[in-house]
Amino acid sequence: MSWQMINHRGPEYKDLLYRTTEGVKQVFETKNDLYILTSSGTGAMEAAIVNTLSPGDKVVNVCVGVFGERFGDIAEVFGAEVISLDFPYGSAADPDKIRETLNENPDAIAAVVKGEFDKLLLVDGISSVCSIPISTDAWGCDVVATASQKGWMLPPGLAFLSFSERAWEAHSEAKMPRYYFDMAMYKRYYEIGQPPYTPAISVMFALDVALKRILDEGMGNIYERHATIAQMTRDGVKKLGLTLFPEESVASDTVTAVNIPQGVDGGKLVGTLRDEHGVILTGGQGSLAGKIFRIGHLGYTTEREIHEVLDAIKVTLN
Ligand SMILES: *Cc1c(COP(=O)(O)O)cnc(C)c1O
Repeated sequence: MSWQMINHRGPEYKDLLYRTTEGVKQVFETKNDLYILTSSGTGAMEAAIVNTLSPGDKVVNVCVGVFGERFGDIAEVFGAEVISLDFPYGSAADPDKIRETLNENPDAIAAVVKGEFDKLLLVDGISSVCSIPISTDAWGCDVVATASQKGWMLPPGLAFLSFSERAWEAHSEAKMPRYYFDMAMYKRYYEIGQPPYTPAISVMFALDVALKRILDEGMGNIYERHATIAQMTRDGVKKLGLTLFPEESVASDTVTAVNIPQGVDGGKLVGTLRDEHGVILTGGQGSLAGKIFRIGHLGYTTEREIHEVLDAIKVTLN
C-alpha cells in the first residue's frame, strides 16, 4: 500500500483493474458484471437501489438487523414504498413469510418480478461475501454488495457490486436519481480499462495481493476456516458462562454477538478490554446498544487471537 501512485488512466491500472475484477468475480461465483466502487459498503447498498428502482416502486425489505433497517431506509429516502418484513434480531429470515408477503402484494411484484418467485434480488453481502459461502449466479442474486474491510482482509475504501443481466434491464427503466453510483458510467469506463472517477489506488494494490492469497487458499478452505473459528468463539464464550445473543443455529460465522450479563456495564467492559488488554470489541447498534458486545472473526483472524480475546474477557469479567 506504500507503493507510489500510478496513473489510473494508464496501462498499468488497466491490467490491475481487469485482474482484480476477475478475481473478485471468482469469489462471488458470478459471470455477471462486477464493479469496484470507491466507497464504503453503504455506498454499494445505495448503488444497488438507485440503479434498479424508481420512486414509488414497492420493495420488500427483509430485515434481521440494524443494517437491514439501513437498506430499507435508503430505499425509502429515494422514494420507494418499503414493505418492511422484520424478523427478531438474532433469528433468521423465514422464507414462508417472504412468500406470504409477496402473495399479499401482487402489484409489488409487478414492477420488478416476472414470475411468481422470480424477483429482483438485491443482497447486502457486505460482511458475508468472502467469509461464508455465496453462489451469486446459482442463487439468482441480481445485485450483491460487499466492502473491502470485511472478509476481504483489506483496509476500508472499496466496495464491490455485482450486476446481473436482469439488473441491467431494471437499470434501463429505473428513475431514482443517481450520479456517482450510476453503473452505466462504470460499465462504459470498464470497457476501456478505467474507473469513471479517481479510485483508491492504494487499496487496489492491497486487493491485488489479498486476492492472490484468497484464491491460493481456496474458497472452500476459507469458508471452513471461518466456520471453525466461529464455532470456537461461540464455545469459548459459553464456557465463560456467557450467553449468545442469536439463536445458535443461525449464528453468523463472521461475528459473535454476546449478551452482556446482568450487572455488568457493557461500555466499561469494552473500555477495559481496549485500555488494559489492547482487545477491540464493539457494542451493539440501534436497539441493541448496551445489550450485547460483538467479537469479529472474519477475514484475517487467527485462532490464537481469539484465544487471547477470550482470556482477556475472562480476566476483565472477574
Ligand atoms: C459493515 C456492514 C454494513 C455497513 O458497511 P459500511 O462499509 O460501514 O458502509 C452494511 N451491511 C452489513 C451486513 C455490514 O456488515
